Amino acid sequence: MANLLLKNALILTMDQALTTVQRGYLQIRGDRIAALGEGEPPFSEEGYQVLDCSGKIVIPGMINTHNHLPMILFRSLGDDVADRLKRYLFPLENESLDAPMVRAGADYAFAELLFGGVTTCYDAYYFEDEVAQAAEACGIRAVLAETILEGPSPSAKEPYGEWAYTKWFVEKWKGHPRITPSVNCHAPYSNDTEHLVAAHDLARREGLLMSMHVAEMAYEHTGCVERYGLSPVAYLDSIGILDEHFLAAHSILMDEADLDIYQRRGVKVSYNAGSNAKSAKGVAKIRQMLDRGIPVSLGTDGAMSGNTIDIVTQLSLVGKIQKLFNGDRTLFPAREILQLATIGGARALGMEGEIGSLEVGKKADIAIFETDSVNMSPLYDPYSVIVYSANPGNVESTIVDGELVMHRRQLRSMDFGAVKARLLAYQEQIRQTAAELDRALAEG
Ligand SMILES: [Zn+2]
Repeated sequence: MANLLLKNALILTMDQALTTVQRGYLQIRGDRIAALGEGEPPFSEEGYQVLDCSGKIVIPGMINTHNHLPMILFRSLGDDVADRLKRYLFPLENESLDAPMVRAGADYAFAELLFGGVTTCYDAYYFEDEVAQAAEACGIRAVLAETILEGPSPSAKEPYGEWAYTKWFVEKWKGHPRITPSVNCHAPYSNDTEHLVAAHDLARREGLLMSMHVAEMAYEHTGCVERYGLSPVAYLDSIGILDEHFLAAHSILMDEADLDIYQRRGVKVSYNAGSNAKSAKGVAKIRQMLDRGIPVSLGTDGAMSGNTIDIVTQLSLVGKIQKLFNGDRTLFPAREILQLATIGGARALGMEGEIGSLEVGKKADIAIFETDSVNMSPLYDPYSVIVYSANPGNVESTIVDGELVMHRRQLRSMDFGAVKARLLAYQEQIRQTAAELDRALAEG
């Protein structure tokens, strides 16, 4: 693979100073950024594959910090069902899923991420080794975990059957250049104290990120208060598992005392704007979190919750929901929202030294937007254009680890036609399972 040289590019580096290169170059050698600057490259172009980025906007690859990728198999089912997780989603997954299906879903989901300029994703699901193999094959960077819960689950009929799987998975994938294992407990309401503490011990012993859904459900909150006399956040803190290697998804139902705990412990947050709005669960107080120095990143949740899994679609939702929620249109300027999607995601995953901004020495993870499409002009403020005007279809190329994995809307690391055919091969089977569920729900 030739080294890449991007020329004539408008570059939003998302570095600490938010340096914007108006018309410049970015040199990639191997998997890292070797140089970038204004104007023409001050070195020979020989031996480089040159991408002329005239009229294009180059940004760091976007980072999705909360997903359940293979759930894309079920996208558009059960969108409006009340108490959907327990009445619809868990039964549908338990009835349907096996390892080959998870692989088919993961391949398709990774295609959507790469088409949308997402270069790193956090995922937790079942049969996660299939997701890891899909990630390895398609060239994306990923932090991955088997979901641990009391169960039953698609991959374990016995309570906590995912424990042995998690240990095996961590051993198998640790040390991989692009795939980082993680420890994931589903939620405070689907795990007991003993297993939460043990999961945290495992994560600390192996130096891994632990992640969980936290302060998301009303019944999670009332259940915790009834059982422990504490909010979910206070309960998790009381058992000693909150720290700077803990990534909390959602974190909607939070009071000031909960925010104090996150701040004190260095907990990181994945904000899922679209999924939270669609499920009518509330709005996470990310302004207050950021003002307290709590790292906030963006996630989508699974495609049955948020429907799309790219990050471009989330950007304008973040701005609109937060401005409306806080009654202040000056909050969250576009460049701050793009920070959440890039360097914010890197911080949430503990990878800010390697990814999240375009700086010499960092990994070459990059999204390139075209500006020829009708929605992309004029271009007075490129941050605003990316956040409020762009859609994922405007991403023209995606580079991960120095490799051009999507170029001119063509995936180079997978055969999208074959991937789509394998996903759709499950459609009739899933349709029948869903119809049975719908009938059972209608009968009460
Ligand atoms: Zn989730």
